[in-house]
Order: sequence, then C-alpha cells, then structure tokens
Amino acid sequence: MIYFDNASTTIPSKEVLEEFISCASNSFANPSSLHYLGMKNENEISRIKTEILNLLKLNVSQYDVIFTSGATESNNLAIFGTCRQYKNRGNHIITTKIEHESVLNPFKELEKEGFKVTYLDVDEEGKINIDYLKSLITKDTIFISIMGVNNEVGNILNIEEIKEAIKAYPKIIFHSDLAQSIGKVKQDYRVLDLMTLSSHKIHGLKGVGCLIKKKNIVLKPLIYGGEQQNNIRSGTIDFPNIVGFKVALKDAISNFDKHQENVKKVYVFLYESLKSIDSIKINSKMNWCPYILSISLKNKKASVVIEGLSNKEIYVNGVSACNSKKNEPSYVLKAFNKDDTLAFNPIRISLSYLNTVEEAKVFIEEFKSILSSIRGETR
Ligand code: PMP
Repeated sequence: MIYFDNASTTIPSKEVLEEFISCASNSFANPSSLHYLGMKNENEISRIKTEILNLLKLNVSQYDVIFTSGATESNNLAIFGTCRQYKNRGNHIITTKIEHESVLNPFKELEKEGFKVTYLDVDEEGKINIDYLKSLITKDTIFISIMGVNNEVGNILNIEEIKEAIKAYPKIIFHSDLAQSIGKVKQDYRVLDLMTLSSHKIHGLKGVGCLIKKKNIVLKPLIYGGEQQNNIRSGTIDFPNIVGFKVALKDAISNFDKHQENVKKVYVFLYESLKSIDSIKINSKMNWCPYILSISLKNKKASVVIEGLSNKEIYVNGVSACNSKKNEPSYVLKAFNKDDTLAFNPIRISLSYLNTVEEAKVFIEEFKSILSSIRGETR
C-alpha cells in the first residue's frame, strides 16, 4: 500500500498507540475525581499542558490549553466562544475564503447572528495582502481567523505579517487553525491569541486536539455540563488520548528537521516528475508546505483516476476528505482564480515523513498509466 492521504488523517504511530493502550488500561481514572488516581491524572494533565506550550515555544505564564475533540471543535470554540463573548465591543470579523469548513461555517452562522464578515482573498503566493487587510479594519473589528497552512493546496499564510498589521488594534483577537501547520512548517505561534491543534494530523489518534488561548481571553462555552476545564469545555477529560496527543506532538516538533528533509525529497521528486505531464496543472508551489501537493486534471475526471489508483492500493484524495464527496468545484482553487474545470478535478497528494521516494516512483508510473488508459471527460 502507498498512503498519500496524510492531510486527511495520518497512521497513528507505534509510540502513540503504546502510550494510549498503557494509559487506557492503567490510568483510566477520571481526572476530576478527588481520590489519588484521579489527582494523579489531573497533575499529569497540568504537566502535559506545560510541555505542549514549551514545545510550541509559548510562554507558559501567558497561555492556557483547553483539550477538545479535535480541530473542528477547537475552531468552533475559538470563533463562537470569542465573538459571542465580545459582541458588545464590535460586530466586524475577518477570515479568508480558503479556510477549512470548520472555520467558514461558524462564520456563516455568525453572519446570521448579525456579525459583518469579510472573507479575504489570497494572492498568487497564497498570502494575505497586508495593505488591503489594514484598509478593512474598523473600530468594530474584534476577531480575525486565518489558517497557518491551507489543507488543500499547502500555501503558507503570513501570520507574522498579519500580526504586525493589527498590532495597533489591541481589541482584535487573532486566531489561527494550525491543523496542517504544526510539525510541517516553521511559523512563529507567539503572534497568535488563539490556536487550533489536532492530534490525528501528526500521527496521533482521532478525537483529540486542543485550543490554546491567551489567559486574558474569556470564551463563552459551547458545551455546558460538569464544568471541567474551568467551565470552558465540560465533559470527562480523555486522559489516554491526551497522553497520545502529547507523544505525537513531541515527535512532530522535536524531529521537525529530520521529517522535513525526508518529506522534501519525496515532494521534490513528485513535483519534478509531475511537471512533465501535459494533461495536469500543478496547483501547489515548490516553496509551499512540502506535505501537500495539489494538481488538477485538465481533461480527465479526478474521481476516476483516484479510483484507478485506489485499485492499485495507492491512496490519494480529491479536494479534502471533508469535501471530496460533494460534486462541487473546490472553493479553495476558485479563490486562487483557477477556472471551473480545474477546480472541479483536483487531486491532493499529501505526505508524511514515513513516505519514500521509492513509493513516489511507483505512484508516478501508475498515475501515468491510468491517465493514458482512461477517456477524457471532466464532469
Ligand atoms: N482544519 C483543517 C485545516 C483541517 O485540515 C482539518 C481536517 N480535515 C480540520 C480543521 C478538522 O480537523 P478534525 O478532524 O481534527 O476535526
């Protein structure tokens, strides 16, 4: 099998699974319980929070970590939690046209609640135009959410420049969805007030992630119940999954350079090989995140090619796992001004440090053979 769908989810690492099983078997107590076993887990969770902040080079005295079920919940909590809490300060909020739907759909909901939303375009390099952003900010702007790395094409957003541009507006709270950024590109997360992380994108398990927030930010909860996690996110804390998440994050951050070097080799090989195929267009750029390589088929149906590869046990995806079942053009590619046909037929190859150049060679051969064996059609 060749697994090139790592932006949808990664294979859980052996270390994560071992830690998870050991904790689920031996440290199963509810961290909110008052007895020794509960308190032991609670202390360990405090220690893990500090470790996560240290790994991300964030000042432990300035940030809190709230554990969630993953990036979707973290994005929802950041967006609804902040905007509803601070709605008296202003009603203008900003995001981009290329965010994941777990950001876009909460913004659409907030529009219904009376917020004015600006959906920013990105330029050809996949960056936000800073002068344009500055021109949009008013005294009513309270919240900006801009992802670290896009999940469909891998462009890296200029979060450091954005922070510089909004520095003069202390009222604005700056959030970023870092689901595809952590361990994959180097960005300065200290510029952010709120950040979304997900475990299963970095060889952890599904169902766990966190929202990191500056301590002075008050969030209106989305989930009410037993008031765990300072009443920001009720529900029994999933201790074994959180331990697995910490193991995954530690590996992703401490082995960043080694992983990057490996992935870059595979990425460059794929990029160079794909460049010579006339019937495709490469959407990603060489200097973007090397974990995601998006191409569009000019005159073939992407779903047919994906199925052909799948029959050979080679797994790639269309747009993103969340959108691949809808027969709609990719809104991300449309935001990059691709014509409709190209936005209709993208294939996303997304890598992990576990992938090899040998796998990439097999992929290219099979891909070329499938392209030449199927009829031309785009819808
Ligand atoms: N944001 C981005 C950028 C993503 O790629 C994904 C996963 N497709 C999500 C959010 C949702 O992540 P989760 O599965 O952890 O909810």
